[in-house]
Amino acid sequence: MKDTIETIGLIANGERVETISRFEVRNPGTGNVAGYAPDAGQDELDRAVSAAKAAFPAWAATSDEERAAACNAVADHIEAHAEELAQLITLEQGKPLGGLGSRWEIGGAVAWARYTAALCLPMKVLQDTNEGKVEMYRKPLGVVGSITPWNFPVMIAVWHILPALRSGNTVVSKPSPMTPLASLRLVELMNELLPAGLVNSVSAADGAFNMGAAMSSHEDIAKIVFTGSCGTGQKVMQSGAETMKRLTLEMGGNDAGIVLPDADPQAIAEGLFWGAFINNGQTCAAMKRLYVHDDIHDAVCEALVAYASNIKVGEGTLEDSVLGPVQNKAQFDKVARLVAAAKETGQVLLGGEPGEGLFYPPTIIAGLGADDALVYEEQFGPALPVIRYTDVEDALAQANALDVGLGGSVWSSDKDEAKAVAQRMECGTVWINGHGGIQPNAPFGGVKKSGFGVEFGEEGLKEYTDIQVIFS
Ligand code: NAD
Repeated sequence: MKDTIETIGLIANGERVETISRFEVRNPGTGNVAGYAPDAGQDELDRAVSAAKAAFPAWAATSDEERAAACNAVADHIEAHAEELAQLITLEQGKPLGGLGSRWEIGGAVAWARYTAALCLPMKVLQDTNEGKVEMYRKPLGVVGSITPWNFPVMIAVWHILPALRSGNTVVSKPSPMTPLASLRLVELMNELLPAGLVNSVSAADGAFNMGAAMSSHEDIAKIVFTGSCGTGQKVMQSGAETMKRLTLEMGGNDAGIVLPDADPQAIAEGLFWGAFINNGQTCAAMKRLYVHDDIHDAVCEALVAYASNIKVGEGTLEDSVLGPVQNKAQFDKVARLVAAAKETGQVLLGGEPGEGLFYPPTIIAGLGADDALVYEEQFGPALPVIRYTDVEDALAQANALDVGLGGSVWSSDKDEAKAVAQRMECGTVWINGHGGIQPNAPFGGVKKSGFGVEFGEEGLKEYTDIQVIFS
């Protein structure tokens, strides 16, 4: 595996775009330079958008079959380059290659690409009577701007780019400056197959020029699909207002898990752990607060801690690492701050002390309540607060008290009872005896300040279209 990647280029109209400067990307596992990414500005953005705009009419006119074939070809090409992409992700994101790490992320990207290829939105006849015919068409929007975060750089880019292409749009893709390398390579790979201009890339350091903001207000971008934090998503919405952009906003959450008194602590321990600690907790729909009934509170904590104690944390390239480092210093500091405050009121059951560099061990803290910042703030890292409750109505009220609502879970031996509780949770997805397992055929999105719009499945595809009705 290479230690440092030379600059991966931007692509506009199928051609590599050179920038005057580039920025360093750090490997969070070693602190070393992982590679360099182009530091683009307004000119490069305009060039990418112009290329996408010019390519749009011909692509929008292609048949469903052609677009499906192109998406399948992209899936095959990602699969053929799976190991290269996985290694890039590990290098810049830090997650392990194995387990639920980089190779798994690429597997997910391929599965989503294929499923998206198979979707379609045919014209629908709404009425066909003596009074006339009414047909509803789904039409592509134009240029879609994709803005992605640093936690699943390739999979989330695929979630944005593939449905945009499948429905006849063209794309400008912007990765997070924390993890640009694998996503830029993904766009290079797509350009080996697709007509010029369909997928273009821009990347920029966090600096005076804000590429995401420039995209969100760009005259020639019709839609922004954004995955990231609530605060940034709100800025996207503000910047997009003037040009009346279509938006899909997949933002932060603070998912609650509620363990009912009839759950089996031993049986659910592994699911609870992975629900909370997948990708080191740096997952939008990870379980970020755990409410456990008093009757089984201690047994659940014991079983969870026993499972978590065996999890090896280490550099992503080491075969025995199960979890990697926290991806960046700001996120690491946030986790450290929230844990330090939680330790003042709660009991540390596991972890609780920062490790070397950006490594932070899985941390479980019990004895916390609604007033603790680790409970009401999204930690987005490997620290889980456990809250004891006696009345399920109270647990539900606490779970629903926050202004975000991405996912949630209910843990019980009685599925029907769990479903009744699930339906009262204020969030976009609820899992019974699991947490965070998304799949390409199930629409996924947040309620309240977690955003709006959904991704995946037919409902997700519709978000890349406008409706046109023809009366004849
Ligand atoms: P972030 O909001 O800091 O950054 C996301 C992206 O927005 C990056 O590409 C960034 O460069 C860009 N950006 C920065 N300023 C911008 C602006 N003014 N306008 C437009 N774009 C701008 O988020 P992050 O730290 O990369 O990711 C972590 C957050 O993302 C967490 O809150 C997490 O819950 C959320 N997330 C949500 C989902 C979901 O599907 N709902 C998935 C993954 C992550």
